[in-house]
Amino acid sequence: MARVHNFSAGPAALPTSVLAEIADEMMDYRGCGMSVLEMSHRSSMYQQIIDDAEATLRRLLSIPDNYRVLFLQGGATLQFAGIPMNLMRRGRAGYVVTGNFANKAYKEAAKYGEAVLLASSEDTNFDRIPTMADVNARIAAEAAGDGLDYVYICQNNTIFGTMYHELPACGDVPLVADVSSCFLSQPLDVERYGLIYAGAQKNAGAAGVTVVIVRDGLIADGPAFAQTPQYLDLKTQAAKGSMLNTPNTFGIYVCGKVFRWVEQTGGLAAMAERNWAKANLLYDLLENSKLFHGTAQTDSRSIANVTFRTGDADLDAAFVAGAAEHQIQNVKGHRLVGGMRASVYNAVTMEDVQALATYMKGFEAQHS
Ligand code: PMP
Repeated sequence: MARVHNFSAGPAALPTSVLAEIADEMMDYRGCGMSVLEMSHRSSMYQQIIDDAEATLRRLLSIPDNYRVLFLQGGATLQFAGIPMNLMRRGRAGYVVTGNFANKAYKEAAKYGEAVLLASSEDTNFDRIPTMADVNARIAAEAAGDGLDYVYICQNNTIFGTMYHELPACGDVPLVADVSSCFLSQPLDVERYGLIYAGAQKNAGAAGVTVVIVRDGLIADGPAFAQTPQYLDLKTQAAKGSMLNTPNTFGIYVCGKVFRWVEQTGGLAAMAERNWAKANLLYDLLENSKLFHGTAQTDSRSIANVTFRTGDADLDAAFVAGAAEHQIQNVKGHRLVGGMRASVYNAVTMEDVQALATYMKGFEAQHS
């Protein structure tokens, strides 16, 4: 078996034990004579699969009983619209723009009401999270003024390699967070949020599932807009147990297996420790390098996406091209920013990161 060192930003590496279990169960899922791909979502066998996925996630994150867990489709992108449609009751929400996906969510929200720009780090090409004291002062002023339905953040910025190390203080205003690329990377205090959501294709499973965790009081009255598509109506989705229509049955099954893997390998605190060890190996190398430099400001660095460059586009391209010879894949930076990016999600091992570090050091010796 020849598996590469896969640093993809998503869809991303999955634990090999999970892949092996899925392969084992492919022809005959636990004696029922069919695969999960072929199973009715209304069967009791499948109900057990989705219930187990939810129960495992609830244990992992200590999700309080007054939060609903949904497994939806449409990616994180569909929730850029779903969030204002459900929550913008007074027609005004605050957005902190820290990168491409936060900006997309901000623009989408502006279709449904007033999207208030609370802070942005665009002036330094999104290399940082804005200072929390400034963000907090702005939230307090807006909340005391015309009011805000929610405050929206993108907690980890996959393209720019930045992450919040402190959450904004929102008072009574619900905090909404896109946690797609830091979901299950580290512990998360669900009660700090009104709603969190994540595309599964980084740390939680395969593409095609979006996990939404929402405080039930926020959706009890139905969506803010009557014309909200039924699919995006979180109250209805919660009432139907994510089965308003046919869900991504196989994707949810994969999520359940990944959740169990996280639990069996020590839970979220252990994940965070391992993830920082991997990321810091690269950050330390970058700090000491004469060739490469990290692009995120030190106090905004991501636990999951390590972004770096040489400063010379041709050298960057040579680095990316040469990586394949070392069985290293997917280290090219996002097309918006160029350079390099190594995503060190949960299933990426320390051995993978060491292989990358060895290649970086060798490349540096050759080119400086
Ligand atoms: N938010 C973040 C933080 C992302 O990294 C991405 C890209 N995977 C998205 C949103 C968009 O996700 P999707 O492609 O699942 O719609």
